[in-house]
Amino acid sequence: MSKFRTLDDLGDDLGDVTGKVALVRVDLNLPMQEGRASDVTRVEAVKETILELSDKGAKVLLLAHFGRPKGQRHSTMSTSMVQGDVERVLDKEIMFIPEVSGPVVEQSIGILRDGDIGLLDNVRFWPGEEANDPEFAKAIAVHGDFFVNDAFSAAHRAHASTEGLAHFLPAYAGRAMEAELKALDAALGAPQTPVAAVVGGAKVSTKLDVLENLVGKVQHLIIGGGMANTFLAARGVDVGKSLCEHDLTDTANRIMDTADHAGCTVHLPYDVVVAKEFAANPSSLRVCNVHEVAADEMILDVGPLAVEALGDVLKTCRTLVWNGPMGAFETEPFDAATVALAKTAAALTQDGSLTSVAGGGDTVAALAHAGVKDEFTFVSTAGGAFLEWMEGKDLPGVAALNK
Ligand code: ADP
Ligand code: MG
Repeated sequence: MSKFRTLDDLGDDLGDVTGKVALVRVDLNLPMQEGRASDVTRVEAVKETILELSDKGAKVLLLAHFGRPKGQRHSTMSTSMVQGDVERVLDKEIMFIPEVSGPVVEQSIGILRDGDIGLLDNVRFWPGEEANDPEFAKAIAVHGDFFVNDAFSAAHRAHASTEGLAHFLPAYAGRAMEAELKALDAALGAPQTPVAAVVGGAKVSTKLDVLENLVGKVQHLIIGGGMANTFLAARGVDVGKSLCEHDLTDTANRIMDTADHAGCTVHLPYDVVVAKEFAANPSSLRVCNVHEVAADEMILDVGPLAVEALGDVLKTCRTLVWNGPMGAFETEPFDAATVALAKTAAALTQDGSLTSVAGGGDTVAALAHAGVKDEFTFVSTAGGAFLEWMEGKDLPGVAALNK
C-alpha cells in the first residue's frame, strides 16, 4: 500500500493546531424520514475524527454533499437538514454556515472559538464541486490551514472536496478513512494467503470488473447468487427459468479460463434451492443437484451441501473478501446459504484464523440479517467506492492523500 498521511502526522507537519482551521470532508448523506435521519451510522463513523481535531483546539469546518442538487441551491438539500442529527451524535452544538467560501465563511470562522465545529452547506450546490474546478477548490481552501478527508465512500469521485482541495492544502486521512484503507489493504493489497473471494448478487454484468480483477489476485473465487447461474449455464447446465444472462456465457467462460491460468479455483454450487415461483416459503420449494433443475424452476439459493463444502474452503484460507449475497436473501428461506456461510466466516474470524472484509449495500444488509456484521474484521458501508476498490481501480480521493 502506498503510504498516506494520517492525523498522526499533523503535529510533525504543522505543530500545534490550536486555532487552525481544519476543512474536513465527511459523508453526511444520511437516509431521511420525515425530516430526520433514519440511520446515523455515517455520522458515527466520522465522530472520532471530528472530536479528535476539536480536542486538539482546531476550528473544524465540515464539508459534505447531501443528495443530488446538480450545481444549484435547493432548500430541501441543505446540510442544515442534518445539523440536528450531527449534534446529537457528537453531543455538541455546531454552527451551520450557509456557504462554502467567501465573506460569510470568513466571518463565521471569526466567531468560532478554538475547538468549535462549523457545518458548511452542501458542497454540490456549486457546479465547481463535481467538475473538480481548481478555482472552486482554491476558493474553499483559502479558509483552511489543512484538509482532512474522512469520507472513503466519496473517494471514487474526483471532486473538488474529495480530491481538488488536496492540491492546495496539506491533506490527511481521517480516522475512518485510515481504518478503511488499512482493512482493504489487509484484504487485497498485501493479504495473508490463501485468499478467498465470495462474489454473489444478482447479475454478472454489474460485477464483471470485480470478477476480472479478483481472478488474478485470489486463490479461491466462490461464485453465488444469481450470477452463479450465468456461470453454470456457461458450463452447459440448464438453469430453467433462473435469473441468467445468457449473452454473457462467453465472458463467463473467459473468466474461468483466466482463473485456471492464474491458479485460482472457481467454486460454483453443485446443489441449489429451487422453486417455481419467487415467494416466501413456496410450496414448490426443493433442493436438487444443479443438473436436475426443471424448465419451470428457478435457482434462488445455493444448496446445503455446497455451503458446507464452501465453509471447508474458508477453513483453509487466511483472508476473505466478500461482496454480494449467495441467494435471494430478502425472502425466506432463500437467506439460508448467505446466513450459514456468513456465520462460518464470522466464527473463523473470531477464532483468529481468518481476516474477513465485506462490503456492498445488500451485503451489509445480509450480514446484519445474519447477525454477524460486528464479527467480521471489517465491513465497509462505502458502496460504490468499495466496489471500485474491488475492481482494482485507483480511487482519486485516496491517491490525493499519498505521502
Ligand atoms: P451488493 O449490493 O452487496 O453489491 P448486489 O446488489 O449485487 O449486492 O446483489 C444483491 C441482490 O441479488 C439481492 O437483491 C438478492 O436478492 C439478489 N440475488 C441473489 N441471488 C439471487 C438469485 N439466485 N436469483 C435472483 N436474485 C438473486
Ligand atoms: Mg445492491
